[in-house]
Amino acid sequence: MSTSTPTPARFLDYEKSLACIHCGLCLSSCPTYLETGDENDSPRGRIYLMRAVQDGRLALGETVVTHIDRCLGCRACEAVCPSGVQYGNLLEHTRDHVEKNFARGAFQNLLRRVAIEKVFPNRALMKMALLPARFTNWLGAGSLLPKFAREALALVPDDVSAGDLPERSLTCRGGDRRSGRVGFIRGCVMDVMFGPTNLNSVRLLNAAGYDVVTPPSQGCCGALHAHNGNLAQARIAAQANIVAFEKLDLDAIIINAAGCGSTLKEYGHLLAADPAWAERGKKFSAKVKDLTEFLVANWPDFHSALRTPRSALKVTYHDACHLAHAQRITQPPRVLVKTVAGKNFVELPESDLCCGSAGTYNLTEPEMAARLQHRKTENILRTKADLVVTSNPGCLLQIRAGLKKAGSPARVMHIADYLAEALGVS
Ligand code: SF4
Ligand code: SF4
Repeated sequence: MSTSTPTPARFLDYEKSLACIHCGLCLSSCPTYLETGDENDSPRGRIYLMRAVQDGRLALGETVVTHIDRCLGCRACEAVCPSGVQYGNLLEHTRDHVEKNFARGAFQNLLRRVAIEKVFPNRALMKMALLPARFTNWLGAGSLLPKFAREALALVPDDVSAGDLPERSLTCRGGDRRSGRVGFIRGCVMDVMFGPTNLNSVRLLNAAGYDVVTPPSQGCCGALHAHNGNLAQARIAAQANIVAFEKLDLDAIIINAAGCGSTLKEYGHLLAADPAWAERGKKFSAKVKDLTEFLVANWPDFHSALRTPRSALKVTYHDACHLAHAQRITQPPRVLVKTVAGKNFVELPESDLCCGSAGTYNLTEPEMAARLQHRKTENILRTKADLVVTSNPGCLLQIRAGLKKAGSPARVMHIADYLAEALGVS
């Protein structure tokens, strides 16, 4: 690794970086600060580091990069900040600056530039990459691998299943009960590992009265690149998706993965400096809705479609960071889960504290990810829930692996699967 000489660099929007008034109200919401107690692992400390690098008071060295890398990008700090600090924006621009100016070791480069940026967003490559992992799991040979590989392998589920969604899926209500037409984003990880969940999401939308269009020309939303410090590639991904959807006459564009949803809702910001794309980005983002917020707003008689009798399973809900903090959506998924579970619903302590998945964080920062996974697992065990429902594939895999490690029989389900099963449409 190398260290550059401190020189002023313009990578942050200066106004945005000055908004922090150092009040410290965000500290108790920051998972990494809660774990380490180190101010440099807090939002306030990181903003200070970012500004010091920008002002040329601090070199972009290993220490600074360690604290920036250790940030989950969960944006819990942003949701509680009284000063309206746009922490996610500051972090993305800092990471972009880090990746352009800091020389990482060979392993981190391979992980970030190849695995995360090239393999994950590519359906065929990701399917191929999963084969040896699943084979090793099947052989039970994971224990022979080093710790890092074991942790990564534990995330790969046995029941990976890709999906081939039809380009058009018509509502089963038909006739005058058709409520409208929506687009569907199939995602990268969702498409390759959670095919049945995508299918259930479309079935739910159909049951709610909506025709669903899934344009085959859509691609990765750009979240993997944006969170990994490659804003240029994230912009290219955003433009491709705008082109894929903008000519369709849609009431909304639906996403069932929280991490993708927050990036899709921010295309307007991502493309703001490009006059050819800024307005198109804004229009696209205005149509993006998380599956749960859309269902709650547009399916008033959801409860009457439920199967009876209800399951007796005790159910809890984990808030995905990019749904709860980045999109501020906490009630719609709860409304839906509580409608199904009734008195069997139990709140999860620290439900909106990151589980350590944070996109690809559990691959780049496995140590902190494991600490947060353990914390989440302990909280779940305290509820004695039989089932954990969540709304993001990364959280689902991370929590499932944590419960397995703890020897717990509790199941983890994506909310689309949970609802589809309860309605009998899965
Ligand atoms: S980020 Fe917001 S909450 Fe945190 S110290 Fe700064 S102003 Fe206060
Ligand atoms: S994004 Fe999350 S981990 Fe990063 S500083 Fe904010 S609260 Fe802490």
